[in-house]
Parts: sequence; C-alpha cells; structure tokens
Amino acid sequence: MVVVLKQGSSPEAVAEVARTIRELGFSAHVSEGLERTVVGVVGSASGRDEVMQALLALEAVERVVPVTSPYKLASRAHRTHGTKVRISADCEFGEGAFHVIAGPCSVESEEQIVQTALAVRAEGASALRGGAYKPRTSPYSFQGLQEEGLRHLAAAREASGLPIVTELLDPRHLDTVDRYADMFQIGARNMQNFELLKEVGRSRKPVLLKRGMSATIEEWLMAAEYVLSEGNDQVVLCERGIRTFEPATRSTLDLSAVAMAKQLSHLPVIADPSQAAGRAALVAPLSRAACAVGAEGLIIEVHPDPPHARSDAAQQLRFDQFADLMRDLQHIAQTLHRMPR
Ligand code: PEP
Ligand code: MN
Repeated sequence: MVVVLKQGSSPEAVAEVARTIRELGFSAHVSEGLERTVVGVVGSASGRDEVMQALLALEAVERVVPVTSPYKLASRAHRTHGTKVRISADCEFGEGAFHVIAGPCSVESEEQIVQTALAVRAEGASALRGGAYKPRTSPYSFQGLQEEGLRHLAAAREASGLPIVTELLDPRHLDTVDRYADMFQIGARNMQNFELLKEVGRSRKPVLLKRGMSATIEEWLMAAEYVLSEGNDQVVLCERGIRTFEPATRSTLDLSAVAMAKQLSHLPVIADPSQAAGRAALVAPLSRAACAVGAEGLIIEVHPDPPHARSDAAQQLRFDQFADLMRDLQHIAQTLHRMPR
C-alpha cells in the first residue's frame, strides 16, 4: 500500500509514519516529491488492516491507497488457471464446463424430492438442490424438515444418481449435514458468518458460497478467503441478486459481478436467477443472460407443483418450464463452446 501524507508535513511527521509502519512489522520506503511525500509499505498480508488503520489515525496521513487485493488465495494472481470444483464424477465446476443444479427451494416430502430429482436429471441437470434447514425472514414460516429432509435428499440421490447441494445454516448442524450433502450451500444471509466459513473451510467438502444481498464483490471474495485460508479450495461463488432501489424484482441479479468475479478470482462462478427474480417468468431470461455473460453454471428452483410449494412458490419453475429453459441453455452454451452436459 502507499501512504500519501498531507502537504507540508514536517520531517518529524514523516519519521513518525515510517516508525509506525516498522513497529507493525512492515518496511517503509519514503519518497519525497516536490509537494508531497509518499511512503510505500511492504510486507505480508497479515496485519495489513491493522497497519492501514494505525496510519489513518495519524494526523499527517491524508490517505492510504491499497495496491494489491486483500484476498490472496482467492485472487487470480495466486492461481492463474481456473480452479475445478468437483462434487461428483459427472459434475465438476470450472472453466469450459456448464452445470445446472436444480430442485425445489425446500425439501417437503420424499415423494416431492425424488420426483423432482428424476425430472431434472432427465432434462440434463447435474446436481440436485433442496433446503432442509431454511433461513426464513419470519420465524412463523416453514423452517424446513431438517434431518428428515436430509434423509429424503439421500433417497433422491439414490434414485437419481445426482449429487446433493443443501444449505448449512449453523456450525452446530455441520456433522449432520456433512453425512448427507455432496456440497454445502452457504446462504446469502450467512455470507459473513465467519465461524461458519471457518468450519466449512476445515471440512474439505465443496462449498457453494452465495453472495450476501448487500455485499460488495470484495466482501464476497473475502468470505471465500475465509474458506480457502482453512485449506479448502473447493469453493464455487454464486451471484444470487443484490438489494437495489428497484422493487419490481425481488433482488437485482448483478451480472457485472459474475464477469468481474471471474476476472478477479480463479474460483468458478455460477448464478442463482431464482432468488434474484422472485418470479418464475423472469428465471429463463436471467438464466440465458447469466450463461451468455460467462457463468459456469446455474442453480435453479424447480418444483412439481409450484403454487403449493412451502417456500418461494412464486419463483419455482414447473418441470415443463425447466425443460424449455434447458433446451435454450444448450443452444447458448454450444454457441459459446461451453456445452452443458
Ligand atoms: C435458497 O437457495 O433457497 C436461498 C435461501 O438462497 P439465498 O441464501 O441466496 O437467499
Ligand atoms: Mn429459495
């Protein structure tokens, strides 16, 4: 980082800045210009925020300009080739691949999830989603079938062969969810639950990391850094819409973030058009756009009978709507030389 001092700073003030930098274990490189003095700070990533805060607390410091990103392991600079994230023999996320995870918002019964698994597999989905532990805005809304839901997911995997993606809400559920899931979903509301991120980082199981609804791209990548820094590089980033001034859609699907995250990070990036749209009629156009912008996959809510769904009824696709969408996606992905399986 580079520290810019206020105009007319005294030699004593410059010396204090350099001393503060060295006291915190970094080296200081002073460069005196005609009007301004700048100081380069060189050192490792740890303690970076502390040194920045300490410098901003000094009277003589005008601003501190970071030169490198605060996420190291998640950045393209760390690994120039794209990371592959494998959740089953037939589902490996990464550059050149395109995979669709599909299934209901919530697991409601064994029949519902098995039927959905077989239907989405027939249309080319490579993984099954379904929430057993649901993060609901209201405590009076359906909270999920919990472990019973996980058992139904296991039955659906048995019947369809599809790997399971399901949300982990709380570190206390980790061992239970770990027994059934092939990939942990960390939801938007938990993107900055740092203890949960550390736990899934230690688990070594693939992680689908949703972007928080008010998180910047940098905060999202810092959340991924938590998982990576515990030794688990099996992270797929998922853009699921952010809060904006626009009330017509549930959230605004930030397709710029998909393109940007792919430039900044080596991790695969997918999109969740269902949570963003909030309405089934918008899911197909947003899915086509996400595929075209370079997403390496999608996670889509599909239900046998959406009007009777116990959560997110308005945004779930019927089986026939999902089949039409998969046909469109095949055309787009083929044109872009990224064949869906
Ligand atoms: C979901 O996938 O059903 C869900 C709750 O997602 P998000 O965390 O993105 O809101
Ligand atoms: Mn949902």
